[in-house]
Amino acid sequence: MGQKFDAVVIGTGQAGPSLATRLAKQGMRTAIIERKLFGGTCVNVGCTPTKTLVASARAAHVARRGADFGVVVDAPVKVDMKRVKARKDAVVRQSNEGVTNWLKNMANLTVYEGHGRLESARSVRVNGDLLETERIFINVGARAAVPDLPGLGQVDYLSNSDMLEVDFLPEHLVIIGGSYIGLEFAQMYRRFGSRVTVIEMADRLIAREDEDVSLAIRSILEAEGVEFRLKAECISLENRNGGVRARVSCDDGVPQVDGSHLLLAVGRRPNTDDLGLDTAGIKTDARGFIVVDDELSTNVPGVWALGDCNGRGAFTHTSYNDYEIVAANLLDGDRRRLSDRIDCYGLFIDPPLGRVGMTERQARATAREVLIGYMPMAHVGRARERGETQGFMKILVDAGTDRILGAAILGVGGDEAVHGILDVMYAGAPFTTIARAVHIHPTVSELIPTMLGDLEPLE
Ligand SMILES: Cc1cc2nc3c(=O)[nH]c(=O)nc-3n(C[C@H](O)[C@H](O)[C@H](O)COP(=O)(O)OP(=O)(O)OC[C@H]3O[C@@H](n4cnc5c(N)ncnc54)[C@H](O)[C@@H]3O)c2cc1C
Repeated sequence: MGQKFDAVVIGTGQAGPSLATRLAKQGMRTAIIERKLFGGTCVNVGCTPTKTLVASARAAHVARRGADFGVVVDAPVKVDMKRVKARKDAVVRQSNEGVTNWLKNMANLTVYEGHGRLESARSVRVNGDLLETERIFINVGARAAVPDLPGLGQVDYLSNSDMLEVDFLPEHLVIIGGSYIGLEFAQMYRRFGSRVTVIEMADRLIAREDEDVSLAIRSILEAEGVEFRLKAECISLENRNGGVRARVSCDDGVPQVDGSHLLLAVGRRPNTDDLGLDTAGIKTDARGFIVVDDELSTNVPGVWALGDCNGRGAFTHTSYNDYEIVAANLLDGDRRRLSDRIDCYGLFIDPPLGRVGMTERQARATAREVLIGYMPMAHVGRARERGETQGFMKILVDAGTDRILGAAILGVGGDEAVHGILDVMYAGAPFTTIARAVHIHPTVSELIPTMLGDLEPLE
């Protein structure tokens, strides 16, 4: 005989804790299981620590640029990596302890620390306990993928989580993977003072973005001294005096990169392989993501999958939105849907990229008549005043309906300014709503109406 619960939540990522709280407050006897760190990836080894480190790296960068602003820094800027890490640890600790205390002190909620594994569609084993329930919510997240590269077994490598334990300055950090996670670490460590080389198999960075975005990001990072080896179709690794030699033999450039440390940043895979999904008859796709419908239900009634493990989002805000959708349908009689969600995300290099909706490539593929607006950040007063004029903003509009299809703002404040566009998209309002709005001067957002006043057909 197991212990009976009304609901069992596996994982304390960005959906699990909020959902468990709602269920418990609703009077359901609820259990939540965590095998490692309360708060999951974002809080402990994802968004929070990386953005805290990005802030330290930016401080070093601004200090080095002091003279550009008439600020005299007499000695060379030094970065104390132990203090950088201690600051990061303090910010993470606060968030992790916040989630831990929140869950452990919630009435009606029992916290289990251990690995949860389904024994059926109605029971979960954790440590020696069998939890029996009518409802199971899976929020187990994802982990860094380790690519099958020749020679990997002979070298020491770091994952994104290992990087967060680094309290020294790598002499030459080699990063395999030129996408979101890899590029944030690349700029950060370059600003801390490391030599950094990014090796990417595709012929451009973050290939899911439009080519102009990829190229602008590359030039921003190259201007700071980050080196790139693109089109590295043939990567192999070997140990070289304790460091790493990555053979890339691309079309041009030297056929190898020698570094002191290696970071693998080639994507994430769901934590679904050790969950007993087969036993419960829960379907996954070819990459191990749990298949869900528009309300996050799996193919097995009474079992839901939320967050990165369902492959329908890979962000903190998408996981949290999954919680909102499940709670709305289950507890509020409010029919919210996954398909109502508009894609949005940031790349937190400095300056950042804010992205919503379709890319230009996606808009073209719809065969609609599309209008495009474009504005270099060099025309934005706020960017000029801050001496940070790299990047641009662009927006895509459906010529037939006047609805905004998507936008990218790469530049100072781009991650914030893009939300004005996103909200109008959610409102289903025409682009003229923003075009006719009066925005505050001098901000990045004030140039969005100007950009919309100058739309042209997308060739
Ligand atoms: C370096 C990095 C930077 C990132 N930066 C951003 C960013 O800036 N913005 C953004 O939106 N997103 C960012 N992300 C992504 C973001 O962290 C995730 O999308 C987010 O954490 C959502 O995850 P989740 O809720 O699916 O689960 P997670 O946060 O991954 O949590 C899952 C939890 O389940 C636990 N677990 C797994 N299996 C079991 C089991 N069988 N039993 C018990 N417990 C289990 C895990 O230990 C973990 O605590 C970043 C990720 C990384 C790696």
